[in-house]
Amino acid sequence: MDSTKGWFQKRQMRGGSRYKGGGSNGSADEQPNVQTDEEAVSNTTKQKVAAAKQYIENHYKEQMKILQERKERRSLLEQKLADADVSEEDQNNLLKFLEKKETEYMRLQRHKLGVADFDLLTMIGKGAFGEVRVCREKTTGQVYAMKKLKKAEMLRRGQVEHVRSERNLLAEVDSNYIVKLYCSFQDDDHLYLVMEYLPGGDMMTLLMRKDTLTEDEAKFYVAETVLAIESIHMHNYIHRDIKPDNLLLDRYGHLRLSDFGLCKPLDCSVIGENEFLNNSSGSTEQEDGSAAPKRTQQEQLEHWHRNRKRTLAYSTVGTPDYIAPEVLLKKGYGMECDWWSLGAIMYEMLVGYPPFYSDDAMSTCRKIVNWKSHLKFPGEAVLSREAKDLINSLLCSVRRRLGSKGADEIKAHPWFETVDWDSIFDMDAAFVPEVNDDLDTQNFEKFDESESQTQTSSKSGPWRKMLSSKDVNFVGGVKEEEQVEATTNGQITLR
Ligand code: ADP
Ligand code: MG
Repeated sequence: MDSTKGWFQKRQMRGGSRYKGGGSNGSADEQPNVQTDEEAVSNTTKQKVAAAKQYIENHYKEQMKILQERKERRSLLEQKLADADVSEEDQNNLLKFLEKKETEYMRLQRHKLGVADFDLLTMIGKGAFGEVRVCREKTTGQVYAMKKLKKAEMLRRGQVEHVRSERNLLAEVDSNYIVKLYCSFQDDDHLYLVMEYLPGGDMMTLLMRKDTLTEDEAKFYVAETVLAIESIHMHNYIHRDIKPDNLLLDRYGHLRLSDFGLCKPLDCSVIGENEFLNNSSGSTEQEDGSAAPKRTQQEQLEHWHRNRKRTLAYSTVGTPDYIAPEVLLKKGYGMECDWWSLGAIMYEMLVGYPPFYSDDAMSTCRKIVNWKSHLKFPGEAVLSREAKDLINSLLCSVRRRLGSKGADEIKAHPWFETVDWDSIFDMDAAFVPEVNDDLDTQNFEKFDESESQTQTSSKSGPWRKMLSSKDVNFVGGVKEEEQVEATTNGQITLR
């Protein structure tokens, strides 16, 4: 990608990939690319204009809010002073003092933040590209989560575009269901994203603690995930890596989607479609195409829990369990792939393990691609007819998949009949996490600070073969030599 092209270009490429993916209800090869150059140019322009408008509107909305709040603080003080019967001279002095403090605060806000402005505290996440820590801003005492990414590792793996998209999405989309970005900056070796800290932990931890959820509990989280996915799709983003460890919970137990840039790029072309489609891998007992898994639901659940080590989640690729078949096959894909992931998560919530779980990642990939013969509900699992129908309508071909004409299709499904979509965010969550103070990390796993980070990315095995390749369908390709630059006003650019 031309290094002078900005983030608008990325948006255009995403739009392009969606079109390539078959638009709203077709597969890649069903829709010929009939766009003329003229139409393509005008679409690009339209997208640029829409994105610029959104950006400017958000910026001024924020400025107006700050001004309004400042005015309110002044009038509140004036009111209090009048009620308190203070002399005019004291009133003036106190008002002057307030203005001085306000100006200092504004100056602090404009101060270019860097990592030295934060106390780095407990580690709550660890990945191949870096780590996530709770941190506290030194001047204000505010608590945040800081994601620190190694530049060298990202450049080596061609991940620059992904980080940029993560930063842009977080800054652009203002939704109750998307984790909020406070600022971004860099030093010589790292990029930093400072986000709101969500102390409720992630859905993966919750599912490890609970085994299965009741349908009512699952409905709450699935419904909030629908709203999260809808809000990013409305901004023309595809997440593509929606899985339980990227669904975070706030202190009241409401859900927010995170981890937008480092959706792990998969290049299955190195394995070859035929190898994927070959059903007889022989690697596990369930790869023989037989109707039902040989393990009982309980055995499979125990096996899944034993195997679901964080090491898999830390790895550069992560687990393939929730990835849509069209993404694995690199046939071109659109927003529908996120609805497949939702179906896989819903299955896991109700059954206890994901639908295509297998002993190793390659077998899982094969099962996903051959989903027709592998999607089964264990006899012991008690699911309502509506729940099964919704899962079957999400874990299916792109052409039939619910949501391919928009989130409303999913919201209208009978399983959600009792859900009030407009007020769900104001309702009590299915589980309210225990959070004792702002810095409480009890809902996260404990991480060994001494462990080397590189250990996590040095695993071998067939899945590892996919690591270094870029997914051109998704990012349009990024040159390794491109340099990353993040500015303190949050912009990450290439130079
Ligand atoms: P990765 O690309 O390594 O998967 P993530 O952004 O998903 O990075 O972060 C890894 C883990 O860190 C998450 O699964 C979650 O447990 C924790 N985490 C990330 N961001 C936050 C946040 N803002 N608040 C609380 N925990 C977070
Ligand atoms: Mg993640």
